[in-house]
Amino acid sequence: MDNLEESVRQIVEEVIKNMDISIPKDNDVKNTGVFTDINNAIDAAELAFKEFGKITLETRKNIISNIRKITLANTEVISKMAQEETGLGRWEDKVVKNKLGILKTPGAEDINPEAYSDDYGLTLVERAPYGVIGSITPSTNPTVTIISNAIGMIAAGNSVVFNPHPSSKKVSAFLVNLLNKAIAEAGGPANLVCCIAEPTIESAKDLMKHPKIAILVVTGGPAVVKVAMNSGKKVIGAGPGNPPCVVDETADIAKAGKDIVDGASFDNNVICICEKEIIVVASVADRLKEEMKKNGAYELNEDQIKKITELVITEPGGPGSEGAANKNFVGKNADFIANQIGLSIPASTRLLLCEVGREHPLVWTEQLMPVMPLVRVKDVDTAIDLAVECEHGFRHTAIMHSLNIAKLSKMAKAMNCSIFIKNGPSYAGLGHGGAGFASFTIASPTGEGVTRARTFTRERRCTLVDYFRII
Ligand code: NAD
Repeated sequence: MDNLEESVRQIVEEVIKNMDISIPKDNDVKNTGVFTDINNAIDAAELAFKEFGKITLETRKNIISNIRKITLANTEVISKMAQEETGLGRWEDKVVKNKLGILKTPGAEDINPEAYSDDYGLTLVERAPYGVIGSITPSTNPTVTIISNAIGMIAAGNSVVFNPHPSSKKVSAFLVNLLNKAIAEAGGPANLVCCIAEPTIESAKDLMKHPKIAILVVTGGPAVVKVAMNSGKKVIGAGPGNPPCVVDETADIAKAGKDIVDGASFDNNVICICEKEIIVVASVADRLKEEMKKNGAYELNEDQIKKITELVITEPGGPGSEGAANKNFVGKNADFIANQIGLSIPASTRLLLCEVGREHPLVWTEQLMPVMPLVRVKDVDTAIDLAVECEHGFRHTAIMHSLNIAKLSKMAKAMNCSIFIKNGPSYAGLGHGGAGFASFTIASPTGEGVTRARTFTRERRCTLVDYFRII
């Protein structure tokens, strides 16, 4: 065990020891943000929201800067903690993912007001906070979702109570504590960001129906988004995806091969936007496979594909049905998964490549692991049709490698997704090696797309009649 792992363990133990707090009557709270009871967490966040309303915009900006500074200094610690606690992904990739959320999530500049002036005077449109937000976070991106959501929600003037996935409760509590330290240091109120120490499905449901929760921001699989949407509250829902990646005969195949391995193997494919199936035009399929193998993919034979499928799929997806993957293999390394079927491959292997037919369950099931199906089709139009079908209408993310602008445009329209990446790895769509800002809550079912501070605001208009058009 290296020193960092030991120090991570010590930090976790220390945090857990000091975590159990409820609000004393005099509100003299400890300000860790971590509570044993969801009701106490919500009460504390409500108090924090009221205090936050009295604070200047400049202080709000300083709070965001300090959150970025302190989380950046702890990136390696939280990445290792998350990997150790959840057993998912690769901590080195989580460092990249966390840094992306810390540095590229927009702050208060995203809620600048707009003004309209004409013959009738001046109208100002400002963005107001909702209040206390209830946020449910996934096991797959446990820390970056909390960081990115906290930055956006605070920049917009809200407070937030997180109900993290139970399998990431320790790192979430550690992080919430850290965020509150950063907020207090910059002059913000206590418990602006809260969570509970022992999150459960029940506590998530309590959060969803609590009268003091103004809106819900839910990031997870299909079940939780459906439950939230039945809560009667406004929901910003970020659900599952099954991003297809189409490669046509005009693509730069060497680049496509590298980009696909890089994107699909990033954090062992646990991110919802990662490439989940490749659909390639037959004339370039063999070349694409060769390029992928040069970049860390290992191709399985027919017998190995059969065994891997039995191992990793519990409920086979198909046309019109999402299916389900075996959770025991979600986010695991490629060589670990290969080992389970008696196949020994180098630990440096990033992706298991499986050429299959179009009806194969690997194509239709969101697996969240480095097992990549590849389907060969006769032409690009067939590829686009299949891509639309196996994305299941989630409208989440799709990727295409092509130099044919007409086909790029055709696929972008046909997919109708929150994110469409052209000629790059999937993570370019989140601002890593691609233009634009980052977020790890991509609200496809409710339509907000890649969320940001302004997503967490109510628009308010103020009109002055006849005056203040001063030109
Ligand atoms: P999950 O659905 O198992 O859990 C997500 C959260 O919902 C957890 O906090 C969990 O405790 C809670 N939850 C689950 N079922 C619930 C229920 N019935 N009632 C109340 N709460 C419930 O998902 P996961 O395995 O942690 O994350 C992976 C899934 O999330 C994938 O499907 C992935 O595509 C999706 N995801 C989507 C986005 C996005 O931005 N669209 C981002 C990350 C993950």
